[in-house]
Amino acid sequence: MPDLQRRLMHLISCNQFRKEDVERLIGSAEENRDRKNLHLQHKTIATLFYEPSTRTRMSFEAAVYRMGGNVISNEDATQSSSSAKGESLEDTIRMVSSYCDAIVLRHPADDSSERAAQIAHVPVINAGAGACEHPTQALLDLYTVWREKGKIDLCYALVGDLRYGRTTHSLVRLLGLYNVKVILVSSDYFSLPDDLLKFIPNCHKVDSIDEALECEPDVVYLTRMQRERFPPHLKRCSNVFSEEHLNRLKKDAIIMHPFPRNEELPKTIDRDKRAAYFRQSENGLWMRMAILKELVK
Ligand code: ASP
Repeated sequence: MPDLQRRLMHLISCNQFRKEDVERLIGSAEENRDRKNLHLQHKTIATLFYEPSTRTRMSFEAAVYRMGGNVISNEDATQSSSSAKGESLEDTIRMVSSYCDAIVLRHPADDSSERAAQIAHVPVINAGAGACEHPTQALLDLYTVWREKGKIDLCYALVGDLRYGRTTHSLVRLLGLYNVKVILVSSDYFSLPDDLLKFIPNCHKVDSIDEALECEPDVVYLTRMQRERFPPHLKRCSNVFSEEHLNRLKKDAIIMHPFPRNEELPKTIDRDKRAAYFRQSENGLWMRMAILKELVK
């Protein structure tokens, strides 16, 4: 699958993708479920995380091991790398890129992956850049929709902190490649940044999950309030998905969440078969294998 790699050395933003790239990656992710993929034998991948992570880092590392590769990792780089001694991201990236075949980077600065890509001479994969983007999450999200629903041209309700949530910022860019209807569910303060609305021309805004359910969404994509990114007095979460919402949800709809969850998604919802979020997390492994195969040569 050399296409994406020929055009792009790094994976920085969902703006980089064409529909055929997304579909090729979905096909490749699906193949990984039952076909051996030892594409990373004799390769070393660095995971450099300046922000907390459970699923993204561990699924990337599990993907590397499954593909026969090795991992060097800094899971708490703000504290335990030379960043704590004042080293710049650029200097760290210059060093790390000479030790490995690709860098998986999570960092609080919106432009971190772009800055890293300018320095690195190996592929940089954006594993979360500030409040800006999280492209590998969006790819696994679409893979999940495709697996669960058989298609992506559907009606989506995106709920929660759409202002600071980087997963929805990447997701709308990819949804823009499809024929979708999008309901944006948030209070005014937490609404999706205006510059992202151009990706989803068929969208409208509502305040509550109740209103969103009137449009009969096929996918309800919940997100947590990104409390680490906004002033503490705004901590309130206004949209909690309740049992009552579950009763009103279409029988064949799915509920997704990039996780971690907070109060917006009570555990009582987990037993419903429409709760797709644990399957979604698992899909991260297969999709990240596909991404590594595409970018690491
Ligand atoms: N894990 C996702 C992220 O890193 C979602 C979240 O933290 O809410 O953006």
